[in-house]
Amino acid sequence: METVIRRWHELIGIKSVTGREVDAADYVAGVLESFGLEAHRSYFPEDTDKERPSVWCVLDSGRPGKTMMLIGHIDTVDVNPANWRTDPFKATEIDGLVYGRGSMDMKGGISCILSTLEYFAAHRDEFSGRILGCFVADEEGLSKGTYQLVDEGNIQADCAIMAECRYDNVAVGFRGRFSFEITVKGVAAHASRYPEVGENALISAGRLAAAIEALPTLTHPKLHHGTWCVRYIEGGHSGVLVVPDSCYMFVDRYVVPGETAETCIAQMQEAAEKLGLGDKCDIRLKPRKSPYMQSFAIPEDHPLVTTLRRNFAEVTGEELRIEYDPSVCDSNILAVSLGIPVVTFGPSGGNMHGDNEYGVPEQVLNCLEIYKKTVRDMLA
Ligand SMILES: [Zn+2]
Repeated sequence: METVIRRWHELIGIKSVTGREVDAADYVAGVLESFGLEAHRSYFPEDTDKERPSVWCVLDSGRPGKTMMLIGHIDTVDVNPANWRTDPFKATEIDGLVYGRGSMDMKGGISCILSTLEYFAAHRDEFSGRILGCFVADEEGLSKGTYQLVDEGNIQADCAIMAECRYDNVAVGFRGRFSFEITVKGVAAHASRYPEVGENALISAGRLAAAIEALPTLTHPKLHHGTWCVRYIEGGHSGVLVVPDSCYMFVDRYVVPGETAETCIAQMQEAAEKLGLGDKCDIRLKPRKSPYMQSFAIPEDHPLVTTLRRNFAEVTGEELRIEYDPSVCDSNILAVSLGIPVVTFGPSGGNMHGDNEYGVPEQVLNCLEIYKKTVRDMLA
């Protein structure tokens, strides 16, 4: 069995559901150390039990040059074992497909990064500059692993491959996402006296909700448009005869490049003012533990994109389509927070995040070859 396939199987056999990634991190660190690389562990502050490390390493050619990052996440979503035909934490090959949690998302990609580093650790004469390997925790949660690496300032690079499960195409752009909270104020009064006295916050919020969903978004030739989705509304008193004086709303917003939290808030504030609710609304970004992800797209003729596509064609004989993703992933953080041109491409499979997830051995083997060629070309 090829080493890249064996490590993929071994990683599937190590449970690393988001929330306790330490065993997979230790495995990755051990593999890196076997190549003679120093494995650095990174913990986010609230991980006081040290059960959720990310791991990173630098492979230096000893010659000046650019830095290329290879990055993936070591955590997986959880399973409902009752719905699985095989043990989800044991790689099981059936009819040429490998079943197990993480087989697709994304322990094949992690294994490809490890084998790429192994190859170049043994062939330092074949590249200039540095290869940065990152294996992050919490991608399926709040991406705290990647944010922590960014905050620590250790992971700058000139370009990056995010080895996420995406094999039929390479993603060069993603939308971003924000969530907003709005509190709309009314005036409480006895319901029997309404509407001569009192002001119903639910009605004001409903009018504002409709106005928000009718707001325009910027457009992008490939990411198309953003979204406005009023996702939750709460307020009023079911048990007392009081005109509601407060209503809480939750608004989800996918964005395209050029749209920020500030531009979105300004749009909603203007909508509120047009309804005469300007001074009755508090519109704010919903607090969360990690920063929100902004949208990005790198040029389709960026050397990283053309090189990866050329090498995909060389290895598989097929064309790699360019794709834009309507959602978000850790690639957004690298592109927006660090300005790193990043492509998202790696071995894929089926039933992602679902029961009986599987990966495809041929894709793992091909991705390793494609990564090796692309690193060699980019760091020539
Ligand atoms: Zn993933």
